This record gives sequence, structure tokens and C-alpha cells, in this order.
Amino acid sequence: MTSPQELVSMIVSKAVKMAEMMNIPIIGLVENMSFFKCPDCGKEHKIFGDSHIDEIAEKHNLKVLAKLPVNPKISAACDNGMIELFDGDWLEPVAKVLEKSIEEDNK
Ligand SMILES: [Zn+2]
Repeated sequence: MTSPQELVSMIVSKAVKMAEMMNIPIIGLVENMSFFKCPDCGKEHKIFGDSHIDEIAEKHNLKVLAKLPVNPKISAACDNGMIELFDGDWLEPVAKVLEKSIEEDNK
């Protein structure tokens, strides 16, 4: 029996290996649907079980840049082309890494 998280680990590992093979630089991993912030009790529930993203990142010398919650507002914002206006700050670390690499390219 394979858990959803084991399946995800396998897919991520494959994607990382493929990128390495094709010399595509990976800035880091972003985990989507990492947890669900419960409106009832305010806790973060890991509905898909414990993730292995940290282990995978470590194995490939990558950073985990962000863990995104399950949030219907995010998909709605994407569908409406309004994701730029979404006020979540989960992707802040990703934006910082990208800004830094752009700065370094312009040196
Ligand atoms: Zn709850």
C-alpha cells in the first residue's frame, strides 16, 4: 500500500532527477496542499499525512522554499487570473530567492 505522501515523494524525486539530467537549475521545492488551516479549531491539519518533503530536499541538496496550505481561495484566485492580488505570504521566501538570483545575474 502506498500512501499519498509516498507517491508524492516518488514523483518529486523523479522530477528532480530529470531536471538534473537536463541541467535545469532547481531553486528549491514548494509543497502544495501541505496542510489545511482549520476554520473551526484554528489548527493546521496535515490531511495527507506527514510530508517527506524535507527529507527529499535534503537528499538532493535543495531548500524547501514554501509549504502552501490547502486553500480554496488560492485556486479561485488562479482561475480568475487574480493570483497577484492574493494576500497570502507563503510565497514570500520564493520571491526573495528569485529576486536574489536576478540581482546576481545583473552583476
Ligand atoms: Zn480542526
